Amino acid sequence: MIVRISALLFVLAVVAAPARAQSQGDPAVLAMMQQINERLASLGLDIAVEQIEFFTIGQGRPSNRIHQQPFRWVANDPRRIAQGNDITFLVDQSDGATASGLTNAQTEAAIDSSMTTWDNEKCLKKVDIVKRADGGADPDIFDFFFGFGGFGNPFLADIVSAGWLPRAYFEAVGGPGGGRGILAFSVTFIFVSGGVPTDINGDNYLDTALNEVYYNDNFGNPVGDRAGNPWGINVALPGIDVETVALHENGHSLGIGHFGPPPPAVLKPVYAGIRQSPFPPDHAGMCTIWSRWPN
Ligand SMILES: [Zn+2]
Repeated sequence: MIVRISALLFVLAVVAAPARAQSQGDPAVLAMMQQINERLASLGLDIAVEQIEFFTIGQGRPSNRIHQQPFRWVANDPRRIAQGNDITFLVDQSDGATASGLTNAQTEAAIDSSMTTWDNEKCLKKVDIVKRADGGADPDIFDFFFGFGGFGNPFLADIVSAGWLPRAYFEAVGGPGGGRGILAFSVTFIFVSGGVPTDINGDNYLDTALNEVYYNDNFGNPVGDRAGNPWGINVALPGIDVETVALHENGHSLGIGHFGPPPPAVLKPVYAGIRQSPFPPDHAGMCTIWSRWPN
């Protein structure tokens, strides 16, 4: 009898394993993502938060992903009002100035430069990364769920640089220590139908819906606890170089994740000074995703 019960428990464990193995990351962050997805569903929207990647200074944080199956952009996807085979981006003009003294024009130029760097990657030659003007409408939605902005139009562009938000926002999204540890984060949404992720082009990847990037204005805020690490343009540590962080974040926007310990890469999870050009692992990651575009 004891043997039979053990066997039954073993079977139950095997059956339950796939559900537990699906998500990966910080349990508190994953629970927050699931709560937002319940609210998105209750709003009748066929999009769901799928991945949050934190770029930190000091201690790294795990990647947070709901499904094991990876996601990719789908060329010509009418659900995101795609511009053909292009990937579009928009820089929110309303949140671009920093407490460290940068103007909106300075941060926007650095973000634009990072996008040009990715657009010039040889493995991205089949995709054009095209900038859209900020028409003044709210272009982002993730901040809404934390009380830091309205529920904007999520389809004004594929990738939205949502600007510099206060320390409290990063503490709310990342949990304890987020406000002084997270430089920026990327949040990727996928399309769902009846709560189930879609794969409309049958490429075995979930379909990316939109991506938003948020930057932490606590860095360089004279009255904050990161006054000694101000955002700047082409600045060495202890300053934080905007273009370096933008290149990292827009790497996520284009689909690549973090690379672990050595060798060096733009997509390291922890900031390590100015890196305004891709390293071999970054090249390889982009080639895997984009060399066959449109799939
Ligand atoms: Zn990252």
